[in-house]
Amino acid sequence: METYTKQYINGEWIDSMSGETIDVINPATEEVYGKIAKGNSEDVDKAVEAADAVYLTFRNMPVEDRKNMLDRIVTEYENRKDDIIKAITSELGSPKSKSENVHYEMGLTHFKAARDALDDFQFEERRGDALVVKEAIGVAGLITPWNFPTNQTSLKLSAAMAAGSPVVLKPSEETPFAAIILAEIFDAAGVPKGVFNLVNGDGEGVGTPLSGHPKVRMMSFTGSGPTGSKIMEKASQDFKRVALELGGKSPYIILDDVDIDKAARSAVQKVVNNTGQVCTAGTRTLIPASIKDEFIKKAKQYMHEVVVGDPNDETTTMGPVISKKQFDQVQSYIDIGEKEGAKLYYGGTGKPDGLDKGYFAKPTIFTDVDNKMQIAQEEIFGPVMSVLTYKDLGEAIEIANDTKYGLAGYVMGNDKASLKKIARSIEAGTVGINDVPGQSDLPFGGYKQSGLGREWGDFGIEEFLEVKTIKGYFA
Ligand code: NAD
Repeated sequence: METYTKQYINGEWIDSMSGETIDVINPATEEVYGKIAKGNSEDVDKAVEAADAVYLTFRNMPVEDRKNMLDRIVTEYENRKDDIIKAITSELGSPKSKSENVHYEMGLTHFKAARDALDDFQFEERRGDALVVKEAIGVAGLITPWNFPTNQTSLKLSAAMAAGSPVVLKPSEETPFAAIILAEIFDAAGVPKGVFNLVNGDGEGVGTPLSGHPKVRMMSFTGSGPTGSKIMEKASQDFKRVALELGGKSPYIILDDVDIDKAARSAVQKVVNNTGQVCTAGTRTLIPASIKDEFIKKAKQYMHEVVVGDPNDETTTMGPVISKKQFDQVQSYIDIGEKEGAKLYYGGTGKPDGLDKGYFAKPTIFTDVDNKMQIAQEEIFGPVMSVLTYKDLGEAIEIANDTKYGLAGYVMGNDKASLKKIARSIEAGTVGINDVPGQSDLPFGGYKQSGLGREWGDFGIEEFLEVKTIKGYFA
């Protein structure tokens, strides 16, 4: 069993003040995989004080030194590859190959991207006789979810470190071990004491005092909308900056001139990736009525090819959902979908055959979905596809935007003008045309209730900076 009951504060592993622990469950076995400290407000105070004490020195660290520090982090991160993959496979239940090719890689990419962004980043700019300076905002509180344990943490950490803001990180209590390895990586990379602090614990014990701490100048949060609201409320007391990456219910618009086989494969991937626990998952699949029958037949075939099972088995392509709570949520939405009158076309409630232990859900397709239904409006966060039909592009766009969310959107087809028109019309922070791969220097974030602000690359660094105008500097 992995037991880490200490907090990483001011460059040292010290006992948590609470003396209490939280069990971390392996979702594939339902067994306790490890224990972490259940931190409290005293731990938060210590961590914030440590970060605040180094704020001015870290802010003034030359950019070249920050680049070298990020390079050393990249090297140490690569040295811990096997440990990161093992932690993510165990705590998240992600299939081993995905833990390597998706989770491990995404974390690494963010440190490299932040480092590269510093090559061209303009921290100062002359305007007439004035100088405009961008400088680190100060202590940043980072709170992250469980669905991408290295991606969410690394992207915030890399940006804050590139900007020169010291941090206190509270990772999800459900996937804390990848973050503990990051703390060890920073220690080995010689990140100055106090720049990175890790306080493990739950939302109430650590997240709440961190969001309300008077010496924290900004909160960067990724997670659910309701938690984002609470953090914003706390932060509003002393007008902290808030960056929020929240949920989504993203549309995937398929055009009628598409290669149906390719579209079905891609749409299924968007739903089963990370067992559907992806904020940008394209779970509302919009298809022209004329190709519906052929499309859903193909989609069913690709859903059937998903191999659900033991994350350590090389043939597995989809692991369990994270927890009993998440499993119950997915089951409940499948029930709701049927009650609302959608047609359960594939999958359904219960566990796949032969998988009695572990939070394994069935890849599922609903057809005949109306966009007013709960299964079209609410984030299920499981491998459930809702298929809707449209009669023309105008209607497709209207349905796509008829949601409180605006994190992502997808479109696939051949007619370039239609693809571009749809991409420009979808109200979302990122729209993908024809499944092109992502790039870590592109901004990422949400419209509407999907969040505030942008992360990744230079846009991510901007979030951790204040802007100062010095008039008469060159006079
Ligand atoms: P969550 O909101 O329950 O928890 C996220 C984090 O907030 C955890 O670390 C948790 O301990 C902490 N927390 C809980 N209550 C808190 C409080 N009152 N104050 C401060 N912190 C608190 O979310 P989750 O279940 O871990 O993650 C799933 C959600 O995250 C989904 O809605 C998903 O869409 C969203 N998400 C969004 C993105 C994005 O980039 N937009 C990425 C991944 C996940």
